[in-house]
Amino acid sequence: MSNLINEKINTANMPDSKGYFGEFGGSFVPEKLKMVMDDVAAAYEKISRDPTFLEELKLLNETYTGRPSPIYHAKRLSAAVGGAEIYLKREDLNHTGAHKINHALGEVLLAKRMGKKKVIAETGAGQHGVALATAAALLGLDCDIYMGEVDVKKEAPNVSRMKILGAKVISVTRGTRTLKDAVDAAFEAYLEDPVNQIYCIGSVVGPHPFPEMVRDFQSVIGIEAREQMLKSEGSLPDAIVACVGGGSNAIGLFSAFLDDKNVKIYGVEPAGKGLDTNMHAASMEKGKKGILHGFKCYFIQDENGEPLPVYSIASGLDYPGVGPQHCYLHDLKRVNYVSITDREAVEAFYALSRMEGIIPALESSHAVSYAVKLAKEIGKGKKILVNLSGRGDKDIDFVMENYPISEYEPEDVMKDGYDEFLSHISSKA
Ligand SMILES: *Cc1c(COP(=O)(O)O)cnc(C)c1O
Repeated sequence: MSNLINEKINTANMPDSKGYFGEFGGSFVPEKLKMVMDDVAAAYEKISRDPTFLEELKLLNETYTGRPSPIYHAKRLSAAVGGAEIYLKREDLNHTGAHKINHALGEVLLAKRMGKKKVIAETGAGQHGVALATAAALLGLDCDIYMGEVDVKKEAPNVSRMKILGAKVISVTRGTRTLKDAVDAAFEAYLEDPVNQIYCIGSVVGPHPFPEMVRDFQSVIGIEAREQMLKSEGSLPDAIVACVGGGSNAIGLFSAFLDDKNVKIYGVEPAGKGLDTNMHAASMEKGKKGILHGFKCYFIQDENGEPLPVYSIASGLDYPGVGPQHCYLHDLKRVNYVSITDREAVEAFYALSRMEGIIPALESSHAVSYAVKLAKEIGKGKKILVNLSGRGDKDIDFVMENYPISEYEPEDVMKDGYDEFLSHISSKA
């Protein structure tokens, strides 16, 4: 698909045939898994050039997901901030409420073409599990989701969703009973029957071909957004912004703009409780090079090269590493990687809700928060496009409980501006 979809290929829009973006990526897996991954890579290479596959995916994107997602000009937010105009790419309006359905459909469609009977994956907070279970239900494949016992308890609504959709949720009781153990259990199950099953990774991470494949499926975001901005605004944005966990929604947007040298690009990592604490997941800023989960990237590690526990208020950003293409774009200095704290993300969460009637996911709130800072900095007459990766329904109980907002009338927001509005968010955090 890299050749069919990304017609404008930038040198940064690789990988090479072994899955390398510069020195990052590759495939560092046990011999048995390597053969399996080579199979998937070969199948993807072939199927992604098949026009009937691309047609089928396009039709699902349109009739099932609801693509193209619109671009919305956030006029009231922009006015309150008093700087550049802020635009939102509305991935929150997709079926299932986030960008993850874009690659879930692609992966399950590929699985079906490869003759697989079952898709398997791990999930932490359950967002990837739900997207995959949705695509599996749609396309009639079995779906096994491995989830740590701790997460199964914590994320009850998503567990119910997966079960209602017909997926089997396997509670992993070994070790710390969280995501890491779920990954191990899922890979072991995969190796038991790599012929009938396929492992579906939930971001642009893991061994080749996943960083390339997931990027290709997500690149629809940027392709649409570039056209939409040209058509409705008559020009490209001056800057584009997206949050970065593993990096799939971000690279989906960025890949269409890499050749547009006048478009500044910002990837926003979670600074959690602060970069000077150990409660963050800013892999680019605080990580070192090494091998994590089968690929080379910057990741947060101890002196022995073992991944350290990471943290973010947004469970989707809570990952110690970052996709290899992002690492390459970082070193090329094509993309600026910045960070936003929990607190700043919550402020943006409330601001967008109150000023535009859009409740963003806490992940996406990181991107909105940085866009606001940038809008003040680059000033009036400029345009900033933000990828609103998902909706915040999943986060409302948590936010109300932990970050209650004091009474504040929407009209006052407009009168007093953004900073005044922020001062009315209770400082309980
Ligand atoms: C999972 C998730 C993310 C983070 O994943 P990326 O691969 O970095 O895009 C961001 N936003 C939402 C809404 C998510 O569900």
